[in-house]
Amino acid sequence: MSDRAETRGTAEGAPDVGELTPPDRTLMGPGPSDVHPRVLRAMSTPLVGHLDPSFVEMMDEVQELLRYAFRTDNRWTIPVSGTGSAAMEAAIGNLVEPGDTMLVPTNGYFGGRMASMAGRAGGEVVEVDAPWGEPLDPADVAAAFDEHQPDVFGFVHAETSTGVLQPEVPELTAIAHDHDAYVIADTVTSLGGVELRVDDWNVDVAYSGPQKCLSCPPGASPLTLNDRAMDKVLDRETDARSWYLDLSLLEGYWGDDRSYHHTAPITNVYALREALRLVAEEGIEKRWARHREVAGDLKAGLQELGLEMNAPDDYWLPSLNAVRVPDGVDDAAVIDHLIAEYDLEIAGGLGDLAGDIWRIGCMGHSARPKNVEYLLAALEDALAEQGAL
Ligand SMILES: *Cc1c(COP(=O)(O)O)cnc(C)c1O
Repeated sequence: MSDRAETRGTAEGAPDVGELTPPDRTLMGPGPSDVHPRVLRAMSTPLVGHLDPSFVEMMDEVQELLRYAFRTDNRWTIPVSGTGSAAMEAAIGNLVEPGDTMLVPTNGYFGGRMASMAGRAGGEVVEVDAPWGEPLDPADVAAAFDEHQPDVFGFVHAETSTGVLQPEVPELTAIAHDHDAYVIADTVTSLGGVELRVDDWNVDVAYSGPQKCLSCPPGASPLTLNDRAMDKVLDRETDARSWYLDLSLLEGYWGDDRSYHHTAPITNVYALREALRLVAEEGIEKRWARHREVAGDLKAGLQELGLEMNAPDDYWLPSLNAVRVPDGVDDAAVIDHLIAEYDLEIAGGLGDLAGDIWRIGCMGHSARPKNVEYLLAALEDALAEQGAL
């Protein structure tokens, strides 16, 4: 029996699991990233009701801060209760109606998730191809539009599975709009980390997550829709298949009425509010520049160790650095060594890139010189351990 059980004890027959003592990790994987201490403090403040006048005020503030981070004036800008996938499913499940066709990309893991969600929403899925590790070519998107005439086009702005940033977003949205289609952008690993301009780039719907470049725990996930997209949602002939994520119902809570739909994850909204205040204090453009700068040092350091980036410089994604695993090196052993010896989290590859890359995040509060230096020193040791240096 542990000391703790002797001093605190549990009731007869009840499990004794001890006090919560999570390890003190440095999070440099594909998310979650290190949480800013101010965000953690915000989460330990007292709960109020989800319709409390003070909370209603906070909801307005969060919406205003989200508009700033997304660079949008969209009225329909809310945190969805749940992780990034909930905001993703709210976007796809509301915009795609049975009989609609959605065009999705094949160049990474999250395009595949878009396809699954569109199919479940009753949509027909068509694809625009690019290999894992490359962005979409606007010419291919235009060809796919001519061939399939999709109603909705989804793309991943920052593909966390490959470390690729999709360039030429305004060109992609122009193609879609020439065909009267709606554009949904996955901005989970770009919001608050790399340049993203929802209004200037004419993105109709963008969703994100709090635990990547906003450095906030998962639980309340940003979503924004312009009026054109929201009109499609409100004009649906059939109800969205998810009651919980039905935006026409959520409108009652986040819109003018402020009536009960479900109990908002209050503490997560506090956290997001504080995380977004940090964005506002730093300035969104300065924040993008910081990510480029700090991750640029990370990239240079990785290259000095003899490692090769998976994405060419033109599509390099500062918030997620995909690095090729050198021949003869056991990718999992390096990951295990970093956790065991340095309390440092990075991740391996997924799907087509499993075993081929490491994924090193440089997001939000983790995008600091201190983290980068620590990671480079730890990785050098892990590679030496493998005889790779
Ligand atoms: C993390 C991520 C998601 C899913 O977010 P969860 O919070 O894990 O549900 C979706 N898209 C991209 C690009 C991501 O990186």
